[in-house]
Amino acid sequence: MARYTGPSCRLCRRENLKLFLKGERCYTDKCAFERRQYPPGQHGQGRTKFSSYGEQLREKQKVKRVYGLLEKQFRLTFNRAARKRGITGDNLISILESRFDNMVYRLGFAASRNDARQLIRHGHFTINGTKVNIPSLILKPGDVVQPREKSIKIEKIKESVETAKQRGVPAWLEIDVEKFEGKVVALPKRDEITMPMNEQLIVELYSR
Ligand code: SF4
Repeated sequence: MARYTGPSCRLCRRENLKLFLKGERCYTDKCAFERRQYPPGQHGQGRTKFSSYGEQLREKQKVKRVYGLLEKQFRLTFNRAARKRGITGDNLISILESRFDNMVYRLGFAASRNDARQLIRHGHFTINGTKVNIPSLILKPGDVVQPREKSIKIEKIKESVETAKQRGVPAWLEIDVEKFEGKVVALPKRDEITMPMNEQLIVELYSR
C-alpha cells in the first residue's frame, strides 16, 4: 500500500501546526516545529497569505496528513461521508476518527497513527477477538480492540500503554490497562475532537 515516506516534521511545519506524527518526540523540545515555526524550503519565511482556494487546499492537506492518508484514500473517504446522512464535514471527521489505526492510537496502544498502522499491518491487534490487519477498517460502538497475547510483550506497545495511563483516553473510548483491552463506547462527536480543523473548507474544495 502506498504511503508517505518523506520527513514527517516537514509536514507539521508546512501546515503551521503540530500534527503529532512522531510519537513521544512530539512532546519533547526536540520537536522541529517548536524550533522552526515557519514553512520548510527556501521561500518558507516569505509569502504567508493564501487565496481562498489556497486556504481550502491547505486545510485538506492538513487533515489528510493528520490521519496519514494519501489523496485517493482521502477522496474516497470524503465521498463516503458525502453519501451519509447529516453534515458532510462532521461525517468526514467521524469516519476518520473511527478508523482502526486511529482507534489504536487514541487508545494509547501506539505512540502515533503511523506506528498504529504498522503494528496493525503486522497482525498485532484483534477486534472482538479476531486478528485484523486492515488499518482502514471502520469500528463501531461496542467493538473491543486488543493487542494479541504474544504482542503485549512488544516494547513499543508496552511503552505506549504506560504513557497512555498518564494521558488518558477520549470520552468515547474506554481502556482497561491491566487487561490491555480497549472498547469503543460511542462514535466521536465533532466537538470532542480538539485538533483545530475546519472541515467546511474541505467540503468547499471538493465542491468546486
Ligand atoms: Fe510534528 Fe514536532 Fe512531532 Fe515532528 S516532532 S512530527 S514537528 S509535532
